[in-house]
Amino acid sequence: MLPEPANRRESADPIGVAAPEGTTDRYADDAAILAAAREVAATVLGPAATQSDLASGPNVANFRALAEAGLLGLTLPRAWGGLGASTETQREYTEILASYCGVTTFVQAQHHGPSRMILGCPNDTLKRFLLPDLASGRRMCAISFAHLRRPGPPVLRAEPVAGGYRLYGKAPWVTGYGLMDQVVFGATLPDGRFVYLWSPFHRDDFAELFADIAPPDGHWGTLHASPPLALCAMNASATVEITLDGWFIPEDHWLQESDRETMRRNDCNGVLQATAMPMGCAAGSVRLLNELAEQRALPAIRRAARSLSCEWEEVKAQVREWSQKLDAPDFFVHAVRIRAHSIVLAVRAAHAAVAAASGSANLLTHPAQRLLREALFYTVQAQTQEVMDATLGLLEHPAV
Ligand SMILES: Cc1cc2nc3c(=O)[nH]c(=O)nc-3n(C[C@H](O)[C@H](O)[C@H](O)COP(=O)(O)OP(=O)(O)OC[C@H]3O[C@@H](n4cnc5c(N)ncnc54)[C@H](O)[C@@H]3O)c2cc1C
Repeated sequence: MLPEPANRRESADPIGVAAPEGTTDRYADDAAILAAAREVAATVLGPAATQSDLASGPNVANFRALAEAGLLGLTLPRAWGGLGASTETQREYTEILASYCGVTTFVQAQHHGPSRMILGCPNDTLKRFLLPDLASGRRMCAISFAHLRRPGPPVLRAEPVAGGYRLYGKAPWVTGYGLMDQVVFGATLPDGRFVYLWSPFHRDDFAELFADIAPPDGHWGTLHASPPLALCAMNASATVEITLDGWFIPEDHWLQESDRETMRRNDCNGVLQATAMPMGCAAGSVRLLNELAEQRALPAIRRAARSLSCEWEEVKAQVREWSQKLDAPDFFVHAVRIRAHSIVLAVRAAHAAVAAASGSANLLTHPAQRLLREALFYTVQAQTQEVMDATLGLLEHPAV
């Protein structure tokens, strides 16, 4: 049985799925989870990929299908209504989805990290209220923390005040705004440490969690979201910039604190998880090349498909091998190169699909240029200085 959330609302939710039923035993093991993901990706996400890419915002039908299969609870434990998938399964899952629809994969990926942060927080009321809905996909949570990697003065500051924190500055990238009704902000404290705080975009949507809370000096501050940013890739991801001026977040909604060194260590340890989207993108391009080879009897297309497919298998084997060697002294040296290789492979495979599709690849409705645009995005997503370094190194010396 699921823990009962305190006064969970029964009103309509942004995703449109039924309230959790209290059972999460629908998949016998992780292989069954991946089979379900493949089914949703191939039958729902894939056929709608062009439409989802060109839409003005996230394709809600895709998220409903993922939620109905329980997949939006992938990383949460079964006790909270999630699937409790292993790290390896999470990577495979992401790769499968990314081979069919980049924008949906990316948007739903943003929801899993903050769900885990809420799981780890010390506030049981917050967990009981939020986690069942996050696991079932009735509600989704956004994340804004990549800006913490930037050197120089913080772009988003957290000032401790009586009863909580006030946020000042900008959250430069917040994906899923509107589809998601809540966010975890990462902000810099006066001593340079990082704090992660949960906040709804609109307090009224979570009134129960604010019932006994009053902001200091009687004002809540402001949160202003820009219109969706105009993007060449992931334009339908509802990515906005949020400006915060004294936005008050109660101490009850504190999730965790951290520092630059811990973030750097987590980035290093997680570098291979981030290969999933570019590898999925490359797999989608190889699939497209094979389809094009069927339609056009040109040996070069078949040859490119075969060669890129072999290279993909090699990179995949390396991802698997080094994922087991987190404790090796040379782990990061290898892992960051593999990450860069996955990025460059995604770009090359999509570029090959463009070449094989000829002029029609320029049509916005052609999957080849969509995959190339997605590969462009994966080049910078969750980018660290080391990942940038390795990517540029590989582009400078492709043969090395
Ligand atoms: C469409 C889109 C949606 C996104 N959605 C989200 C989201 O929902 N949540 C989220 O948290 N992030 C999100 N991001 C951010 C994303 O994950 C990456 O962090 C971002 O693309 C990196 O670009 P940046 O301009 O922010 O780079 P920066 O973070 O400014 O730079 C990248 C790396 O280079 C290093 N660096 C930069 N300048 C210097 C310098 N002068 N000296 C030394 N090192 C330096 C930085 O420390 C960092 O490690 C999104 C990005 C995009 C493009």
